[in-house]
Amino acid sequence: MSLVASTDTAPALIGAGVDPSRDLLDEIYVAGRWVTGTGEPIESIDPASGHRFATLRAATVDDVDVAVRAGLSAARTSGWATMLPHERAATLHRIGNAVEFNADRIAALQTLDTGKTLSETKALAASAANTFRYMAAALETADDAVTTPRGPWMTLSTHQPMGVVGAITPWNSPIASDAQKLAPALAAGNAVISKPPVWAPWVTLLLARLCEEAGLPSGLLSVLPGPGRTVGEALVRHPQVAKVSFTGGTSTGRHLAHVAADKLMPITLELGGKSPTIVFDDADLERALQGVLFGIFSSSGQSCIAGSRIFVQRSIFDNFTDELVRRAARLRLGPGTDGGTDVAPMISRTHRDSVATMVDAAVAAGAQVRCGGRIPDDPGLATGSYYPPTILTGVTNADTISREEIFGPVAVVIPFDDEADVITQANDTVYGLACGLWTQDYRRALRVGEAVNAGTVWVNTYKQFSISTPFTGLRESGLGTEKGRDAIRQYSDQKSIYLDRSDAPMRWGTSR
Ligand code: NAD
Repeated sequence: MSLVASTDTAPALIGAGVDPSRDLLDEIYVAGRWVTGTGEPIESIDPASGHRFATLRAATVDDVDVAVRAGLSAARTSGWATMLPHERAATLHRIGNAVEFNADRIAALQTLDTGKTLSETKALAASAANTFRYMAAALETADDAVTTPRGPWMTLSTHQPMGVVGAITPWNSPIASDAQKLAPALAAGNAVISKPPVWAPWVTLLLARLCEEAGLPSGLLSVLPGPGRTVGEALVRHPQVAKVSFTGGTSTGRHLAHVAADKLMPITLELGGKSPTIVFDDADLERALQGVLFGIFSSSGQSCIAGSRIFVQRSIFDNFTDELVRRAARLRLGPGTDGGTDVAPMISRTHRDSVATMVDAAVAAGAQVRCGGRIPDDPGLATGSYYPPTILTGVTNADTISREEIFGPVAVVIPFDDEADVITQANDTVYGLACGLWTQDYRRALRVGEAVNAGTVWVNTYKQFSISTPFTGLRESGLGTEKGRDAIRQYSDQKSIYLDRSDAPMRWGTSR
């Protein structure tokens, strides 16, 4: 690990691309109006420097009701809900283009707010632009069905908007999670109320400005930053919110599933993970080493799909682990604005400290720290929320550190004997989000990939995404699916229509 660049990044970022007079205004977006929030202040801290760079007053529970009413009204009066699909798609294309045109601005703002590397935030902005375009294309080609008649009718299966949809997102990949929910929900003809996280609200507000400039009807979108327990909770409980799509922690998701059940409201939940990455002894080891490193340490491990449980076949365990440790220790820790940084700071000191506490507890319980494992004492990193790439061995899959989601740059490496053993260990978790397999035997890849409980399996790659490919969390990793051409249907009510085509009235009863 070596230091890259300085700690005082906020002014540099402001100079480099974040214009405070444009993108850091103390305004939230309620019912088509930019207003100063009346909720509690949200202090935004640059994770790289520890400097507070802005304060945003949050939305309140009352704003939720105002936004919901405005959304319902806007969907009706603007014609958005009844607009022809290709006309709605044109607006989505313009939003996608606006996101792409402003990608550097979005990336700079997101790096300032989340600490992520600029290369990652640029990729997230590009992904968001493509998501809007993909959903526009999917909308234009989303045929309703004329079903096979089984009587004297023409039968249609159609879809219509649900009304107002809530989109609740976490802080780890804001612009991409926003687009993943907003694009299909808007495509389906709904109004959307977005509740961004307190730790990273700014990019969602910028996205709302771009949507407005792209011609999205006023009132159709509201962005209400604020605490989950008040603003988020009010959004899910609101009687006129017809659906919620939530991405966040499993315990929050479980709670919201209960709230949704009481309302009989559909809810999509994208939750946590503790994903296994499995390295067989026939793997291309160079590819496996790079893929495993990327899978856990990119995004500083703050990724739901982080490959945090690394299983290595016993015959190669020592050599593979030694080399993994050597490479992890050489990853460069530094600010996200520095092109040489591999591992950027974590979102906050609070989160960094919770990761450190989990590692300390594992060490106290007998885990061996092979690299990292303590908050860096480098003075250049002192004010930021840095934690180094950390690899632990000497643990089993039953230990707490192997079972709980850490959401940081921390992996355990555990040996296995054969396919049956690793399938048992990999599946011995409450989660079911993702899995990585490193082997040159594609029959084995298929066998193990099908046997592991995971919504996504990567073979000889990891953490790759495509908006056209559905994303599902199994077991405690979620409920429902996002992405893919059917995503729009997740935000639609399905309706059947029977058109009678018989020549005579119904033959029924004795009254004729
Ligand atoms: P979190 O559950 O604390 O918060 C997520 C969002 O929910 C935030 O906007 C928060 O304000 C809101 N919220 C919290 N309590 C709420 C309530 N009672 N009612 C309504 N909203 C509420 O999660 P986090 O710490 O922001 O994010 C990290 C978690 O997200 C990790 O567990 C990670 O695995 C998960 N995640 C999952 C995916 C996925 O696609 N499966 C993607 C990214 C992150």
